[in-house]
Amino acid sequence: MTNTSALRIVWIYPDLLSTYGDRGNVLILQRRAELRGIATEIVHVHSSDAVPEQGDIYLLGGGEDRPQILAAERLRADGGLIRAAARGACVFAVCAGYQIIGENYGDDEANPLPGLGILDIRSGRGQSRAVGEIVADVDPALGVGRITGFENHQGRTEIGPSARPLSTTVRGIGNDDRTEGAYQGQVLGTYLHGPALPRNPQLADLLLRWRVGQLAPLPPAWGERLHEERLAAALS
Ligand code: GLN
Repeated sequence: MTNTSALRIVWIYPDLLSTYGDRGNVLILQRRAELRGIATEIVHVHSSDAVPEQGDIYLLGGGEDRPQILAAERLRADGGLIRAAARGACVFAVCAGYQIIGENYGDDEANPLPGLGILDIRSGRGQSRAVGEIVADVDPALGVGRITGFENHQGRTEIGPSARPLSTTVRGIGNDDRTEGAYQGQVLGTYLHGPALPRNPQLADLLLRWRVGQLAPLPPAWGERLHEERLAAALS
């Protein structure tokens, strides 16, 4: 990493964890930061690379079962993301990424495998796949409101005492107990694909606020229109 004053956005393992356009999460964070005059530096970390520890926001996407296992093994062996989270970095993880950052998760035969242990959740395997649109109301403490996304996962997630549910579901399966996602400090995981941040610009702004503090409001644009459109479609 070169620019020490820029907001450093680190995309973890695009070669293993990137289903359903997860790159959109990187792009929208960059765009919404730069519209406010905040310079960004984007770092792509492939699964053969070491994870840099000085990032501000780390992004992990979704993945099929086998790439998910490989990604978890490599991230555990590397240790960089665990150390970055321990010093307070923000982590935003989707679906397979969400399960990986927890204490443990179920492999494709439901055997528990160790995760990174930076979010107090445990994921097992459900009887069926959860597939479809999710609508959920985010914990009011986070000031995000209603979010939408697309879920496609076999895993089911239980939240431990150190983490809080991200949201309460209005529609969809999510964690499986009428909640969706979880957060603990600035580590946040969700089952929302779509990708989640372009579909929910207010969630992108939460991550930016955690790093840079108060943000100037932006005039509503296509992101807000997409959010309204998907919300109406999911609830119709
Ligand atoms: N393999 C995981 C599951 O099925 C995550 C899937 C995903 O990332 N879409 O639960």
